[in-house]
Amino acid sequence: MTSPRTPAPDVSIVVPIYNEVGNLPDLVARIGGAMAAQPLTFELLAVDDGSTDGSRAQLRELAAATPWLRPVLLARNYGQSSALQAGFDRVRGRYVVTLDADLQNEPDDIPLLLQRLQTDPGVDMVSGWRKDRQDAEISRKLPSRIANKLISSATGVHLHDYGCALKAYRRPIIDRIRLYGELHRFIPSLAKEAGARITEVPVRHHARTRGVSKYGIDRTFRVILDLILIVFFMRYRQRPLHAFGGLGLWLAAPGGLILLWLLVLKLFGHDIGGRPLLLVGVMLVLMGAQMIVAGLIGELLTRIYHESGGAPQFHAEEYMPEHSLKTAPAP
Ligand code: UDP
Ligand code: MG
Repeated sequence: MTSPRTPAPDVSIVVPIYNEVGNLPDLVARIGGAMAAQPLTFELLAVDDGSTDGSRAQLRELAAATPWLRPVLLARNYGQSSALQAGFDRVRGRYVVTLDADLQNEPDDIPLLLQRLQTDPGVDMVSGWRKDRQDAEISRKLPSRIANKLISSATGVHLHDYGCALKAYRRPIIDRIRLYGELHRFIPSLAKEAGARITEVPVRHHARTRGVSKYGIDRTFRVILDLILIVFFMRYRQRPLHAFGGLGLWLAAPGGLILLWLLVLKLFGHDIGGRPLLLVGVMLVLMGAQMIVAGLIGELLTRIYHESGGAPQFHAEEYMPEHSLKTAPAP
């Protein structure tokens, strides 16, 4: 994998970008401003997730004038998780920071999170907490509160705000997690599994002023699906037979009792030929059980496939301005 021949910076900032053309110049300038006051060196991995609005050209232009900007261009729109992972695959810093491109997160809060990591050796991940979240109440904040409660209790990682994109990590945590599908919504759980000690820090939050949200109503459905998956995976990955066997027993036991009962009736001379519905019911229950189990095994296999690094998750090229190859001084 190519990387600029500048020395590795202290901090790698990763931003997923999908059609954010109005936000990019400000984003880059604001991040530059926030980091300028820091003693830490940094790079910005701006991952374009297949934008069609000119974001890509804009990134190239910005990169030509900004030595610490490294655009990563995905071949098409793979989704926010894959975009983040494409960035994670290329980070070089000891610390990694993520935030959204739409400036709903406050770049000036980045030093706050980094400072916490630097001064507190007992913390590996600092998660932003949007105490005063600027999003619609019914369509965004309410579902997100419910999801927060569910995810917290299901995964045992209790945070006020799972969904805040602004987060900072020590590098080893990033190296140990792998994102795909909708998994970016469950990063704290994955990080905890990877051994991270997590804390929350209140951060600012702004309404989107330019561009539009990339998510519609189908997001809720996908998130619920992934929630089921992550709970199942975290509990039963080591012992899937406990899950499959348990479920199988619960379904097979009533089916067996029904059959036994029919057998007894038959033995005592009753005619059971007139109860086809009962048999059909038993058959359906068993078939359903098999379907569920097969589905779960399939999901499990998918996850193992992804996490063993066997799946080609995305194709990306890294854009490198001429001058950064020859001269680019570290910031
Ligand atoms: N994003 C992305 N790929 C996608 C959808 C979104 O890289 O398929 C980026 C988007 O540009 C933004 C971040 O992910 O930087 C969060 O998206 P958005 O602001 O639309 O989500 P919301 O804040 O409404 O939850
Ligand atoms: Mg947003």
